[in-house]
Amino acid sequence: RREWKKAVRVVREVEEECETSVERLRQVVDAMAVEMHAGLASEGGSKLKMLLTHVHNLPNGSERGTYYALDLEGTYFRVLRVHLNGQQSAILEHEVELQTIPQHLLTSTSKDFFDFIASSLKEFVEKEDDSELSVARRKELGLTFSFPIKQISVCSGILITWTKGFSIVDMVRKDVPACLQEALVRKGLDLRVAALVNDTVGTLALGHYHDADTVAAIVIGTSTNACYLERTDAIIKCQGLLTTSRSMVVNMEWGNFWSSHLPRTSYDIDLNAESPNPNDQGFEKMISGMYLGDIVRRIILKMSLESDILGHISSKFSMPFILSTPMIAAMHEDDSPNLREVERILKDILEIPDVPLKVRKLMMKVCGIVTRRAARLAAAGIIGILKKIGRDGSGGITGGRRSDMKMRRTVVAIEGGLYSNYTLFREYLHEALHEILGEDIAKHVILKVTEDGSGIGTALLAASHSSNN
Ligand code: ADP
Repeated sequence: RREWKKAVRVVREVEEECETSVERLRQVVDAMAVEMHAGLASEGGSKLKMLLTHVHNLPNGSERGTYYALDLEGTYFRVLRVHLNGQQSAILEHEVELQTIPQHLLTSTSKDFFDFIASSLKEFVEKEDDSELSVARRKELGLTFSFPIKQISVCSGILITWTKGFSIVDMVRKDVPACLQEALVRKGLDLRVAALVNDTVGTLALGHYHDADTVAAIVIGTSTNACYLERTDAIIKCQGLLTTSRSMVVNMEWGNFWSSHLPRTSYDIDLNAESPNPNDQGFEKMISGMYLGDIVRRIILKMSLESDILGHISSKFSMPFILSTPMIAAMHEDDSPNLREVERILKDILEIPDVPLKVRKLMMKVCGIVTRRAARLAAAGIIGILKKIGRDGSGGITGGRRSDMKMRRTVVAIEGGLYSNYTLFREYLHEALHEILGEDIAKHVILKVTEDGSGIGTALLAASHSSNN
């Protein structure tokens, strides 16, 4: 039928535009490495901010004692206690408590806000049974603060601006750990803020604690980011900044990466134009969980406008973000013979009833195209980082031939709901990694899933930056 052909044509066009051949992925790899260089050369030199974290000491498993973490993500926060016994894989135990921040505090004063948090922390800390590990040591805490910060040292950083509904005006341009520290003193709690970090850095710390070959960390959930360990002398923009350390963790803010080699479609262009932050977070808008569902929704909408295979169009179609990434994963991974899950989601969410099996298969294909592109681009991004630090195996090429130079075992810590819950996304990513690197090199690159870098990882950073050391 003509209508069917029109719908197939829409899908075929998307498929062509989303093409991620190995050649194209290699161009993305190179672009990532080039942009990393540029972002390290000067402030504002690239869309990649390449933020200095001042983290020089990653935990290595020898840490001992009890450490705390405070994870301030948004409208709730978590406090954690982690016991370490100096034997790498043995994080003896950890306890977590989740608390909601009362609405009125989001627009209050920094004193009221941090007094509230300090009270909760005090209650939590005082519940500790005096185990051997914690006696005679000053208690220390790592702070994960998921707002834009200008980091000054590992334990100080200035709030640039609030996001996520917060508006505590007197805190802007103030040193966040110092505000927390003052509140802790007011509450009479002897707890030192030893580290201020971004959640991706926590993931790297946790990965490195368990495996010293860990050189980078990636988070792919609702949003996406990456950080890695860089040689200090390669961070040109911080030269003059006296440091005795050989390396520093750099927070890439890779969601903002952009390159003309990225395969961009009209759906991406529209999504970007209608977003609250047009022209920002271009890479993130192609690869993270926040957006994949909405790209698929836009393609299905186009199909239904071009052909009548979906019957009349419900208003649900034009609602941004109505189709979430977990829903497209459920459609894509539907293994029932008649694609019942696809049918259910089309009916319940998009209000398209009675979609024939043939059309359901086409929908499934669309989910696959968008997810595959995302996963393969993420893989190229990861290899871009490895290339920048000479861990992609290309350093060994002599006279056009790979030399026998040994590729070192290289571990990348990875975390986030998109990667850990969406099996096909993960498989596409691994497949692309192998295609780009080739088997001989790829076998030395290990992606390791970590869990709770922003909590446990941050407590570990408090340990590796402890004044008790
Ligand atoms: P965060 O919101 O802090 O990134 P997570 O790392 O847990 O938290 O990631 C949650 C995101 O992961 C969701 O917003 C969604 O995009 C994605 N996600 C979660 N579960 C699935 C799933 N089953 N399939 C596909 N994506 C998923």
